[in-house]
Amino acid sequence: MRKNNKRCLICSNLYTFCLNCGEFDHLPRWMNMFDKKECKEIFDAVSDYKSNLCTKEETEERLIKVGALNMKLNKTVKKTVDEIMEESNKSNLDYDENLEEISCKKRKSKKNISNI
Ligand SMILES: [Zn+2]
Repeated sequence: MRKNNKRCLICSNLYTFCLNCGEFDHLPRWMNMFDKKECKEIFDAVSDYKSNLCTKEETEERLIKVGALNMKLNKTVKKTVDEIMEESNKSNLDYDENLEEISCKKRKSKKNISNI
């Protein structure tokens, strides 16, 4: 049988699977579309969100649980995932704090240089 005959709908990984071959019988049917369980979970979460079966918050939780943020995703899926995660990642307060910290470090390092 041909190796890597399938491409996962979520992460675009190539993998080997065949619905008609006995050697794959012990594997779940969804492997016809996804290479691993996490990819299927992401697909389910995103499609529930798009069909308004789940709220943005619920979907965000599902995606975080499955580890979607650290996974390789294809462009279309990534766009939707980013859209769901968008609000929680943005915080102006955090941004200001970081800026101040960076400028403090710069001042310190300048002093160190003149001491040498
Ligand atoms: Zn995958």
